[in-house]
Amino acid sequence: MKKRGWLEDDTTITTVLMADICRQAAEKAGVSQEAKHMLKAFSFVLETAAVDPLLESFNKTATAKLDSLVDATKLKLSQTIESTTKHLDAVSLKYSELTISASEAVAALKAAPVHRLYSQALASNACTKLSQSLILDNVKAINIVNARERLVLFNTPSAVAKERGIYTRDDINAYKDTLNVALEKLTDGASKKRIVGLCIIRTGMLLELDSAESARWLKENNRCAEMVKKAYISREEETKVIPRAHELMVRFIPVDFDPHEEESLHSVELENGLPPHSIISASWIKDPSRRYEGQGYANVKINCASPKVANHMILGPTRIGNHSVKVQKEHRIVPICAKCSRHDHFLAACKVERFTCRFCAQEHSSRDCPDKTQTKCTPCGSSRHSSGDERCIESKSRQDRQAEHAPETRSKFFFTKDRWTYNESVNAP
Ligand SMILES: [Zn+2]
Ligand SMILES: [Zn+2]
Ligand SMILES: [Zn+2]
Repeated sequence: MKKRGWLEDDTTITTVLMADICRQAAEKAGVSQEAKHMLKAFSFVLETAAVDPLLESFNKTATAKLDSLVDATKLKLSQTIESTTKHLDAVSLKYSELTISASEAVAALKAAPVHRLYSQALASNACTKLSQSLILDNVKAINIVNARERLVLFNTPSAVAKERGIYTRDDINAYKDTLNVALEKLTDGASKKRIVGLCIIRTGMLLELDSAESARWLKENNRCAEMVKKAYISREEETKVIPRAHELMVRFIPVDFDPHEEESLHSVELENGLPPHSIISASWIKDPSRRYEGQGYANVKINCASPKVANHMILGPTRIGNHSVKVQKEHRIVPICAKCSRHDHFLAACKVERFTCRFCAQEHSSRDCPDKTQTKCTPCGSSRHSSGDERCIESKSRQDRQAEHAPETRSKFFFTKDRWTYNESVNAP
């Protein structure tokens, strides 16, 4: 490396380097005070000359960069603000719409009587099928409802109960006369309350009174028992009016529900806004001991006090124990004789000597069946189901024939004076 006196050959001469050399020279021994000052001053001038343009250009670039960064950020920010504002506007608009429509819906629900909602539902396609199956003229339906209000059912007085359950027309007329005499005594002859019809059915003695008002009167204040006592001087069991059953099948109830607890029934009433004591009783449809392991839900039969309550539950939404449940009218399975497993009569009137098992159709009592899985149906002969099963064609055809005489079985609801329970083409009052 050749030295050019005070500089190496290949050294690039820069202001910074010159300033350095000046400063180093100023430190050297033997340099006069004046020369030192000059050299220091010169190195200062050189350093400043070297740094200022650098700083300046750096400043310029940095400022420009910063400016563009700030501008970009500003733009981004304003864009974000704009789109957020738009979103917020949209959200608040939607929210206000929702609030309005929700409150409108609630108001509409509160204002609309159930039957109006139902007739609206009927207008929709989903219900076309239902409406087609609900053809019954108002007059007939009202007649059915009115006739029902004239009925009084109570346990058959032991004085008239026959072992075989066969009553002649004369028997029936005699009971009617006797009871009418007792009824007259009960009213002191003041009002004309009459029994116009009487029959004995499986569950008891059924009276038809001259009016709904008479029937109501007889059902109140234990008057029915009083009348029977006057008629037959009966000693044994007390006569009790049997309320009309409005049976519902409720599906998918959690198994921790206890249908036999008064408390549970009360909570169902509360949960569904039903009046207190509107549910008379409830029971599991299938024996809980026959559940499979880990079963979480089962079906319950519920008996309602009034058709209105029953319809309310069918219409839904009905909840039990915080679960949505499906409610329908209990399928009226055509009953079979407990002894011979055939239709048309009950145990009391059965004429055969031997039992026929309802499960396997063998000659033993259903209670003693050794294998309930070997099904055989006595009425139709099928081995795919046991006697009295709802799949039985025999039962079905009987049910259809029954429906001809009892149009209510064709309706999803119990008939009431509300026309929507049997006729869709009626407007709400
Ligand atoms: Zn029988
Ligand atoms: Zn059997
Ligand atoms: Zn069958």
